[in-house]
Amino acid sequence: MDMPVPNAAVIAKKAHVVGRLRAALPEGAVIHDPAETRAYECDALTAYRCPPLAAVLPATTDEVAAVLRICHEEGVPVVPRGSGTSLAGGAMPTADSVILGVSRLTEVLEVDYDNRFIRVQTGRTNLSVTGAVEEEGFFYAPDPSSQLACAIAGNIAMNSGGAHCLKYGVTTNNLLGVTLVQMDGTVVEIGGAYMDAGGYDWLGLICGSEGQLGVVTEATLRILPKPEGARPVLMGFDSSEVAGACVADIIKAGVLPVAIEFMDRPCIRATEAFAGAGYPDCEALLIVEVEGSAAEIDEQLGVILQIARKHDPVELRESGSAEESARIWLGRKSAFGAMGQINDYMCLDGTIPVSALPLVLRRIGEMSQDYGLGVANVFHAGDGNMHPLILFDANKPGDLERCEAFGADILKLCVEVGGCLTGEHGVGIEKRDLMNVQFDPADIEAQLRVKDVFDPKWLLNPAKVFPLAATAARRAG
Ligand SMILES: Cc1cc2nc3c(=O)[nH]c(=O)nc-3n(C[C@H](O)[C@H](O)[C@H](O)COP(=O)(O)OP(=O)(O)OC[C@H]3O[C@@H](n4cnc5c(N)ncnc54)[C@H](O)[C@@H]3O)c2cc1C
Repeated sequence: MDMPVPNAAVIAKKAHVVGRLRAALPEGAVIHDPAETRAYECDALTAYRCPPLAAVLPATTDEVAAVLRICHEEGVPVVPRGSGTSLAGGAMPTADSVILGVSRLTEVLEVDYDNRFIRVQTGRTNLSVTGAVEEEGFFYAPDPSSQLACAIAGNIAMNSGGAHCLKYGVTTNNLLGVTLVQMDGTVVEIGGAYMDAGGYDWLGLICGSEGQLGVVTEATLRILPKPEGARPVLMGFDSSEVAGACVADIIKAGVLPVAIEFMDRPCIRATEAFAGAGYPDCEALLIVEVEGSAAEIDEQLGVILQIARKHDPVELRESGSAEESARIWLGRKSAFGAMGQINDYMCLDGTIPVSALPLVLRRIGEMSQDYGLGVANVFHAGDGNMHPLILFDANKPGDLERCEAFGADILKLCVEVGGCLTGEHGVGIEKRDLMNVQFDPADIEAQLRVKDVFDPKWLLNPAKVFPLAATAARRAG
């Protein structure tokens, strides 16, 4: 992975920059000892690492503004960081950058059940947002599988999704407002505790901007009343393509399950060995969940099961209790951990039209043969958000490079069939150089000009999202 040559002048004035940051922040909020900065050398894309110049842990919007003002004056790049669970390398530092971690910004600032919103500092984890409102019967809908660890900050930056986003939408559909600190330290409020704001949709621009335009310190999030009930059904099929066709037919029928999750045989076997959820030994399975009153659930499942039967399932298992529901979800929820136990893997993230699922799954199988690398599929099938896990051996020379080439071919295929390079993990460094596949030079230039407006010196997360060649002149200043 190419990264820009670090700015030697910035590295040479480390002591001066650290001194200014320490003077602006409370004791213990600036980490600069190389033994300690290593903790920030990568995110969940662990194949690539680089310790930062320093890391800072502010606890308020004012402290974030002070850090950014200093770095702006000194010309020091800043990489915002939530919990560091990005699978796209979005929070990976460069040797001349300061990591700005928001893990101390964890307060709940306001809860309003009448108007159904919560305002939090963005270092708060995704799951603990629901934790703050569940006693009153509410929840925050976007549910990335990493929700125990990942922060609202990273969710907003990556426009994260999750298993239940088929019905409730992803982060952008559940975000009402943000407090954003610009690179020069200016604090701006965007949106608020209401449905829409006048003027341009700045909030839509910030959500998914991957730390390129500003640092989000506070967020107003929509909360929803918990549904009356939910019921999953497990479906086993004797081919991935047939399972894919079943998904396309369910979506076409107009029923809206809350989740449709897909796992193929390599993934089923790994999770069975890891979690023992009692899944059938078949080529592919789907978990389809619906929500509502008992009558609504029965009606929706009636349509869904009728469609599934037309695809000759090898198993159809409708949950009859809370314990059975938990067991049906157990394997899916342990899938990433299970795969990690048996292999190094790279988790891809691309989106395709749902009707293209059978074709894309077949092509991925063929490419797996061509590259000589295994692949396991586990993903949010209902919205066409694929997560092929390419298996490789990090200790085998050449395997990582073959894995990267295989991954690039899969993502190109997603674009070719009318989809997108990313569904929910973002571009980061992982897909930076594939942006040329999705966008022509004029499209890329238009996006760079948006960043010029928010961050004219190109100091915020500068080596991410766009092909390095396209940004070289701007990064050089
Ligand atoms: C096991 C596992 C499962 C996962 N499952 C899912 C899933 O189901 N759905 C999904 O969408 N993702 C998933 N992810 C990916 C990841 O958890 C999400 O991208 C998440 O939103 C990242 O949040 P974070 O707080 O860890 O952000 P980080 O990794 O710290 O940062 C991510 C990006 O956000 C930027 N950023 C961080 N803080 C700020 C801020 N305050 N202001 C502006 N920019 C900021 C960073 O610069 C970086 O570009 C998974 C990851 C793992 C490891």
